[in-house]
Amino acid sequence: MQDVAKGIRFVDLEKQRSRLGIKLRERVDRVFEHGHFIMGPEVRELEKRLADDVGVPHAISCSSGTDALLLVLMAWGIQRGDAVFTTPFTFIATAEVIALLGATPVFVDIDKETFNLDPAQLACAIEAVLAKDRRKYPLPMSAHNHTYIPKVVIAVDLFGVPADYDGIHNVAAQYSLLVLQDAAQSYGSVYCNGKRCGSLGHCGATSFFPAKPLGCYGDGGAVFTDSHEWAEIIASLRIHGQGAHKYDNVRIGINGRLDTLQAAILLEKLEIFPEELKARQKVASTYTKALQGWVQTPKVPEGCTCSWAQYTIRTPHRDRLQQALQAQGIPTAVYYPKPLHLQAAFASLGYREGDFPVAEEASRTVLSLPMHPYLDSAQIDFIAHSVRSALR
Ligand SMILES: *Cc1c(COP(=O)(O)O)cnc(C)c1O
Repeated sequence: MQDVAKGIRFVDLEKQRSRLGIKLRERVDRVFEHGHFIMGPEVRELEKRLADDVGVPHAISCSSGTDALLLVLMAWGIQRGDAVFTTPFTFIATAEVIALLGATPVFVDIDKETFNLDPAQLACAIEAVLAKDRRKYPLPMSAHNHTYIPKVVIAVDLFGVPADYDGIHNVAAQYSLLVLQDAAQSYGSVYCNGKRCGSLGHCGATSFFPAKPLGCYGDGGAVFTDSHEWAEIIASLRIHGQGAHKYDNVRIGINGRLDTLQAAILLEKLEIFPEELKARQKVASTYTKALQGWVQTPKVPEGCTCSWAQYTIRTPHRDRLQQALQAQGIPTAVYYPKPLHLQAAFASLGYREGDFPVAEEASRTVLSLPMHPYLDSAQIDFIAHSVRSALR
């Protein structure tokens, strides 16, 4: 048993690298040879592949998932006075980009089963902003005496589980909100209508951070959209608001390009990605079979599939379980120990403990188990067995 535990990584990039082998070296060497490290041919090749994969006309690569979110909000002209609705149970980047542009993040509590934004509460939050009434729904303090214009909802597919896009679009359409899909954790997931994650909002954003389902060897990200007009603006914004040529600048932008080397690495990783997805799904279903009844296992909505960025269980004995697993040499992680409305960075919004009870409860009870395509069945059995004995 001890030997089994020794090889268990939370995410195993080493095993993936040895599988990619010589072909990865060759891809990277080709970039060294042609020397176009910025916006080289691999960047265009990757964008074409990503767009085909996700099923949208436009994929614009960029420097990170955070910049992907930022670029979309910039293209939509989000600024001071705008309200952008999102979940408090996500990585900081989702809400950070809102504040960075001077707009106001308005948090909406999550669904108990999926950890994703609850469309019914989204409607309540929008109504409360319009009424400037914090008694209707917990709002930022300043929403009491400022008029904020509801503009955007950022839905997150937490842990790879698609959010409720039917419900979200329904509410968004009623109030003319744009929908931004934060698919940083869900590249490869499929919504119940058969569409790939990244394509379910007016724009979608993903991340190629190394530990994400599709990761490069550094920072990287991409924006997806059907809109030719937004695609053009975002492509310009990511290169300093570039116009017709390099020294023609038509808007204020950022330096947000994806490195050619990272594009080359991603092209090679895309070759094995479909098989990796299947392997992740196998790991998840094995976990679920072995753990059902012992902990609350993750729920993927009917008809959807999941990229399994994380396999996250829930138990009131979370801390004890984590310690017991650690003692067995099994790495785990808590995503996320503190919801965003209680983060010091957002203290000025004036949210309080108790504002979003479902997110707060999740932060006390979630535990993510090792999840990657290279876990073998002995390792999965060992992990599941260790979870059960710790809770016995
Ligand atoms: C990782 C992540 C991001 C940010 O991606 P980076 O590439 O690290 O900038 C944004 N949102 C969510 C939900 C994430 O998990």
